[in-house]
Amino acid sequence: MMGNKTIEQTIIFTQMVANKQGWALNPDKAFYETLVEGLTKNYNRYGYFLCPCRDTEGSREADKPALCPCIWSRPDIAEYGHCYCALYLSREFVAAGKAPQPIPDRRFGEV
Ligand code: SF4
Repeated sequence: MMGNKTIEQTIIFTQMVANKQGWALNPDKAFYETLVEGLTKNYNRYGYFLCPCRDTEGSREADKPALCPCIWSRPDIAEYGHCYCALYLSREFVAAGKAPQPIPDRRFGEV
């Protein structure tokens, strides 16, 4: 099923997720926009918000854990202060002025 999301709809989606979870969105506007574009592109290609920094495993069922916000976002934000893509950050991390660093991908058991 192909979707038809606009950038604006994806922005609203990320804002809703951040508000619901008590997270912050990446304050680097250009970086944030790149991730939003990736999410939008994935939705319009696959029909769901596949993580913008991960590849499809071939089906919605296989990709389910990697639908944004992925199942690893909560432990990653708790441990590192941000999710794998650094779309979502803890509010404490942002308030401390820290910059996201590359982190291991829990998807394939790197952690
Ligand atoms: S790593 Fe971040 S952007 Fe990617 S699916 Fe998880 S929560 Fe969404």
